[in-house]
Amino acid sequence: MDQHELSVNPVSERLQTVRNRIEDACELAKRPQDEVTLIAVGKAQPEDRIIAALDAGQRIFGENYVQEAKNRWPALREHYGDIEVHMIGALQSNKAGDAVELFDVIQTLDRPKLAQALAKEIAKQGRHPRLFVQVNTGNEDQKAGVSTDSLVSFLRLCREELKLNVEGLMAIPPVDEDVALHAALLAKLANANALSCVSIGMSADFDVAIRFGATHVRVGTEIFGKRPPKAMS
Ligand SMILES: *Cc1c(COP(=O)(O)O)cnc(C)c1O
Repeated sequence: MDQHELSVNPVSERLQTVRNRIEDACELAKRPQDEVTLIAVGKAQPEDRIIAALDAGQRIFGENYVQEAKNRWPALREHYGDIEVHMIGALQSNKAGDAVELFDVIQTLDRPKLAQALAKEIAKQGRHPRLFVQVNTGNEDQKAGVSTDSLVSFLRLCREELKLNVEGLMAIPPVDEDVALHAALLAKLANANALSCVSIGMSADFDVAIRFGATHVRVGTEIFGKRPPKAMS
């Protein structure tokens, strides 16, 4: 990519707009700005857009696919340093080894089998990614995440039996529902279980999510633009 193309790349401006909106939402909610972390979601985005965000100072990213993260981050970490990568996509138990190696935070811990696989890999590798438990706040049949009813017992398994470092909760609300209710519920569940992180809110609704208690918002499209159709890999 030549210098001219770089200079018109809109990612840095989009990123600044999102940061400004987060600032405004915090002000409106009377919350300190440092309570909210922006995760830039790079799934299926071309590398030059990720690099534009890095060059604009963004250091916290979200990934949905183990393979894409594996192709992308080892080299970029070496170049930029102090990067934090969050796994926010469905994670198969047989990828637990890669996940422990690649990610700083895994937000999609949602079942005993995966908890056990992660505990085993953490012990083996001596790396300790921070963990969020994904909650199915909309109680949707097809959706990943532990049900609100089984959250307490699942957390007990993770923390007491498996000694996992669970720091927060994450949710993807039903597409047709207001994020406000789900953010408020997730924040309440986090508080009741002594967890400090609440990951909810995406491009369409992160301002509202912040008003209702989100500490981590996951924003892709508003920063990077529309995702190109996924290439076969
Ligand atoms: C893709 C994705 C996002 C970002 O979505 P946008 O609408 O592009 O901001 C956030 N969270 C999860 C879990 C995702 O899969």
